Amino acid sequence: MEPERIVDVHTHQSGPPAAGAGQAREESLDPANWPELRALGHRMLDDILDYLGSVRQRPVWQPVPEAVRRRIRQPLPAGPSDAAAVYEEFKETVMPYPTGNIHPRFWGWVMGTGTPLAMLADMLASGMNPHVAGYDQSAAIVEKQAVAWLAELLGFPASASGLVVGGGTMANLIGVAVARHVKAGFDVRTEGLQRGGPELVLYASTETHGWAQRAAELLGLGNRSLRRLPVDEAFRMSVLALEEALQEDRKAGRRPFCVIGTAGTVNTGATDDLQRLAVLCRDEGLWFHVDGAFGALAALAPDCRDRVAGIEQADSIAFDLHKWMYLPFEAGCALVRDAGAHRATFSMAPSYLAPTGRGILPQPLEFAGLGLDLSRGFRALKVWMSLKVHGTRAFGRLIQQNVEQAAYLKRLVEREAELELLAPVALNVVCFRLHPQGIDDEVVLSRLNEELLLRLQESGIAVISSTVLRGRFALRVAITNHRSRREDFDLLVRTVLALGRDVVPTASVPR
Ligand SMILES: *Cc1c(COP(=O)(O)O)cnc(C)c1O
Repeated sequence: MEPERIVDVHTHQSGPPAAGAGQAREESLDPANWPELRALGHRMLDDILDYLGSVRQRPVWQPVPEAVRRRIRQPLPAGPSDAAAVYEEFKETVMPYPTGNIHPRFWGWVMGTGTPLAMLADMLASGMNPHVAGYDQSAAIVEKQAVAWLAELLGFPASASGLVVGGGTMANLIGVAVARHVKAGFDVRTEGLQRGGPELVLYASTETHGWAQRAAELLGLGNRSLRRLPVDEAFRMSVLALEEALQEDRKAGRRPFCVIGTAGTVNTGATDDLQRLAVLCRDEGLWFHVDGAFGALAALAPDCRDRVAGIEQADSIAFDLHKWMYLPFEAGCALVRDAGAHRATFSMAPSYLAPTGRGILPQPLEFAGLGLDLSRGFRALKVWMSLKVHGTRAFGRLIQQNVEQAAYLKRLVEREAELELLAPVALNVVCFRLHPQGIDDEVVLSRLNEELLLRLQESGIAVISSTVLRGRFALRVAITNHRSRREDFDLLVRTVLALGRDVVPTASVPR
């Protein structure tokens, strides 16, 4: 296409308008020279694809040098700079210092790797720049289709509703907000929680992710109303403790309304007994919400599906696509079985958004009526495109591959006398520590493993993170990485052992 020849069909003018006498020339942010920006864009695309293709050859992570920090901190630019020069600066100061989660040996926290295809989809989405609150447009149809596919994958009925959001925190918040609306026993949207009714309580486990506290606080329930039930030896919520807590709360006049089950806990990858929780919630008239931030996607792998069995019985599910579907940040998904309840929780019809039966806003805004955001981008494009291009079976195989890699790493850990497994490997998370012979002081062991963790990160060879399990500091490996290979885990174990030999003598001396 020759952009210079594009003619406005209505005014039959082409090119920039001539400045009239005494009239300021009007400007825009489009380039004065399209071919020049096009060439720069092609270079950017080539460079970023090379960057992804060669990621294995670079350190996983390296700290940002002081000189680079100083170069980024600059005065507010009032005037222009050459785009090519700014791009060069980006290549020197920004591009070399990422968190590292695109690397095959990044297994810290829970971060997805990203994919080249989804990166391109993000570029297209940004270029089209549709406003996906709803409106009669292709992007809304694509989002609806992507969400319907995700619902089908998790065994939800076709009548369920959902939307793509920024991440698991938002998706979970939406699920619990619907629970509160449906189960409060009064019109919580009108009345709020200041009318002095019975205290609403919800149940989770000590292993539930920190989003639950955020949600309890933001929804006005208060952190105190979030019961954190104990877990069994496999880090699964004790259903007995749940039953006791329910009874006790009811006896005290409080109103239980929601149970949060987790498919794949952040600490160890454990999954609560979702089937039992689903039955209990049905019997007790409680909303059953499942946080499946990464674990829900195990349902895509035929051999892992039974590990999250029962998820399909939830009233609402929250999960991320930027974790175990490997898509670039940000993308999560909230699904609600009862579409009417979902809409009733969030829908609003201010006059400036009133539907007009025809035109671009024929019906109420679909997605703005299902969550908190009004202005919404086209995150769904990368979901839709990735599912079409790769197919669900490929994602299932990769998830299975990660689960098998976790089992492989577990065997490597078990084989080494100096290493100790600290939790069952239920899915894709392995928690272990260095435990040299003769050192049994827990404080010393924690200090030693923490130092080992930091040296490993700083080595650039692998990035893992940590947690504390029953008072013990654990090295934690969470595998949501489509680039990892078995040899990467061999290298991890070799490096941990080698670094451990240096750390032990210094760490075992009392501070
Ligand atoms: C990551 C995670 C979350 C939060 O999701 P974000 O996308 O980071 O907002 C919630 N629960 C679990 C189990 C997680 O691993």
